Order: sequence, then C-alpha cells, then structure tokens
Amino acid sequence: DQSLTLLVQLVNYGIDRYLLVSRDITQLERLETTRKDFVANVSHELRTPLTVLSGFLETLQDMPPDSLTSEQRKHYVELMSEQAARMEAIVSDLLTLSTLESTPVAEPEPVDMSALVHTALQQGRVLSRDQHVFVEHCEPELQLLGVAPELASAVSNLITNAVRYTPKDGTITVSWYRDDDGSAVFSVQDTGIGISPKDLPRVTERFYRADRGRSRATGGTGLGLAITKHVAMRHDAELRIQSRYGSGSTFSLVFPARRIAAAANDGAA
Ligand code: ADP
Repeated sequence: DQSLTLLVQLVNYGIDRYLLVSRDITQLERLETTRKDFVANVSHELRTPLTVLSGFLETLQDMPPDSLTSEQRKHYVELMSEQAARMEAIVSDLLTLSTLESTPVAEPEPVDMSALVHTALQQGRVLSRDQHVFVEHCEPELQLLGVAPELASAVSNLITNAVRYTPKDGTITVSWYRDDDGSAVFSVQDTGIGISPKDLPRVTERFYRADRGRSRATGGTGLGLAITKHVAMRHDAELRIQSRYGSGSTFSLVFPARRIAAAANDGAA
C-alpha cells in the first residue's frame, strides 16, 4: 500500500498572512488502524466464549431445580469451565504480550535451555500424546544469556503448537544446539499440517490463524507466535519459519553467538 495521508493545515499568523503546513501522518494512521483492528479482535475473541457461557447459564436458570441429573449438571459445569478457561487463557496471553511490549528487558542471566525443553515437554504432557516426540542434539552445557521465564514461554509455545498441528502418529523433533556459524539454535520440527505460503508471512500477527475454526478448536489463543516473536526480539534472536503445506513445519529461534553464556569451566580458569 503506497498511499500517503497528509494533514494539511492553514495557519493564520498575522493579518493576511497564512502558512500552509502539511504533515505526513501515514504512519500515524496505520498505527491507529492497527490499534482499532486489535481492539476489535480482542472483543470478538472474548465475546465468543462469553456468549456460550451466558447461553448455558440462562438455560440452567430457566430449568426447574430438580430437572437435571447429577451427570447432566456435571456436563454443563464442564462445558462452562471450558469457556471460562478459554477467556482466562486469552487474557493471560494478552497480559504477557503487553508486558513484553512495555517493560524494559531484564538483566540477562545464563539460562539452561535444555532444562526448559524438558519442563515444557512434561507440562504439556506432550510425551503421553499421540505423536512421537524426539529430543535431538540437546546440549545441556550450551547456556543462553537471557530471561528464563520469557524463554520458557517461547519454548513451550513452539512445542505446544507442534503438538496441536501434528496428527496422530506424526513426529516432532526438538533440538537445542550450536550451529556451524556459531549461533545457538532452538528448533521444533514437526510432520504436521504445515502452513500455506499465503498464511506463512502472517502467522506471527496477533490472533491470525491459518484455519480459524480448526485452530480455535485446538484451544489456542492465537497469540502464541506473537508472544514468541517478541521474546525473540528481546533476545536479539530471529524466529525462522519453514513450512510445506500438508507435510510439516520447522520453527527455529536463532540466537547470535554473543548470547551464549561462557561455559562454567571457562569462568573458573
Ligand atoms: P494458536 O493459538 O492459534 O495456535 P499461534 O499464534 O500459536 O496461535 O499460531 C498462529 C497460527 O499459526 C495457528 O493458528 C496455526 O494456523 C499456525 N501454526 C502455528 N504453529 C503451527 C504448526 N506447528 N504447524 C502448522 N500451523 C501452525
């Protein structure tokens, strides 16, 4: 979009003297559009579970007290908790995102990435799911200078996505290693559904989903990759995405060599 928006003002500065002032507000206008879209998206994302939740509440209110069996009551409560959990997840991811955008980067400390990988695998109960998960070249001695909670959320988002978008019997390979060029690479490779070339450039946008219905059904908030991209930027890293529609994706965080913590034995020398 090459269009330009100019704000033109006629300023009177004395009798019969006018000054024509023109300002390029293209950037400002774009920011305003982004902000409006964002607010509209947030409202929409929260309204969907809220509507379902109030629907169930109304139904329950209208029912005579004894008309539900305890099984049915349990079922309703479960459905309602799901919607509440969904809203909680959206709000929590929004808060994470706004913290990442508005707070200065904390003092970096050596972070054991392989430990974060193992925690993420356990927390997501990834190992008990239907895919085959491998941890390859995980170098425990390779430590990163960074902020552990931020890195933990990036690692966990990428692993969770691989699980979400890889069907049963697919393969997920997680690696953390030093590349030949000296950079440190965290990567998650899957043999899942992949991303089409049309969607690929947009998946890190907030609430962008390649397949709306399907992605929502997986329980994601649509904010995971936006958060991951921010964490990458705050660690001078690049988020690289390679994907083939229908056959799988590889998401990598590539950290520059200066982000690698000196090995413990180097320091002792
Ligand atoms: P969500 O909560 O919807 O997963 P994300 O921000 O994490 O949101 O991802 C944005 C979109 O990118 C997803 O909705 C999905 O369409 C696509 N995506 C992310 N990871 C993968 C993956 N490993 N394989 C295929 N598609 C993916």
